[in-house]
Amino acid sequence: MNYLGIDLGGTNIKGGVVDEAGKILREASRPTHVELGPDAIADGIAALINELEAGESFSGIGLGCPGTVDDESGEVACAFNLNLIHYDLRAAVKARTGYEIRLGNDANVAALAEALVGAGKGAHSTVVLTLGTGVGCGVVIEGRMLVGYTGAASELGHMVIREDGEPCTCGRKGCFEAYSSATALIRMTKAAMEANPESAMHAVAAENGAVDGRTAFTAKERGDAAGTAVVAEYVKYLASGVTNVINIFFPEIIAFSGGVANQGEALLAPLREEVDRLEFGHKYVKKHTRLVQCTLGYQAGLIGAALLAKQ
Ligand SMILES: [Zn+2]
Repeated sequence: MNYLGIDLGGTNIKGGVVDEAGKILREASRPTHVELGPDAIADGIAALINELEAGESFSGIGLGCPGTVDDESGEVACAFNLNLIHYDLRAAVKARTGYEIRLGNDANVAALAEALVGAGKGAHSTVVLTLGTGVGCGVVIEGRMLVGYTGAASELGHMVIREDGEPCTCGRKGCFEAYSSATALIRMTKAAMEANPESAMHAVAAENGAVDGRTAFTAKERGDAAGTAVVAEYVKYLASGVTNVINIFFPEIIAFSGGVANQGEALLAPLREEVDRLEFGHKYVKKHTRLVQCTLGYQAGLIGAALLAKQ
């Protein structure tokens, strides 16, 4: 049986026919046109469904959307970058196509894909942390996304790890996201560069044309003391949040995606060491959460949306 997955983003709406094993059989995409308003977005989704429907049969449609979405009511409660506020997306798509769609938050459905057919395949439970502009998160336990009451759960990026710390986009201070996103890493890198004019980070940034999430890691590889200190500081905060996640959920797998996760073992090896030190009962627990990289890349959202339709 095949399912249709839709990944609704601020720039494009991507759709794909996906089989039960999570393999994408056919894909299509069209611009979102946020500026034309909510009904135009629903028109775009309907047109994409019609396009992918041609010659295909599928047993359900799932859609991943940024922001807070409620699969119970079919409503997008708030997706600010799509300008959807309390918009009944399920009713709008049904009116245009006759299909009932399932709805999930984009980070949650991406985590569902990693849990079922990616980094967490076969595992009891998987948490996905995306280290990008912010810290995205999805929690999947025994094959089910944790969505909470009305769909607003799993915002682990907004747990405070440092009271009165750096300001966060959510209005609080000291959130996990304000210390562990790529944005935070770049902030730490720039501050260390200013304080250390002799650091190799200056040369690395010049070679890449800008300071980015790789600058400190590359400088560390070259034996730079200030770069090494930035990586250690970043890992310290990341480990604090990751240990909280382990202490709350004790997932079998925590899988990392996003720009910073591309560092692979250069990030994960020191992170494991730090988390081992902090994790509750570490010495006595016989099995431990495994920290790994995600495997599905940018296609996780689309695959996860389709797998949601299967549930
Ligand atoms: Zn926050």
